[in-house]
Amino acid sequence: MMKVKVNRDACIGCGACQVIAPNLFELDEEGISKALVDEVEEQEEDNARDASESCPTAAIEIEE
Ligand code: SF4
Repeated sequence: MMKVKVNRDACIGCGACQVIAPNLFELDEEGISKALVDEVEEQEEDNARDASESCPTAAIEIEE
C-alpha cells in the first residue's frame, strides 16, 4: 500500500498538489499542504505520483 506524507517545512503553499489530487491534499489554515490520508487508495496512486512530481519543492514524500 502506498503511503504519502507532506514535509510541511518544505511546502511553500503553491497549491499544485491540491489541484492535482484534491482527495489527497488540502491547504490548511496556514496555507500549507497537509495529506488528507496516510495510505493512498489504489485508484489515487497515479494522482499521488503526479502531485509529488509536480511539487516545486519536492515536499511530497511517497513510500511504495
Ligand atoms: S505542491 Fe508542494 S509546495 Fe505546492 S502546496 Fe503542495 S506540497 Fe506545498
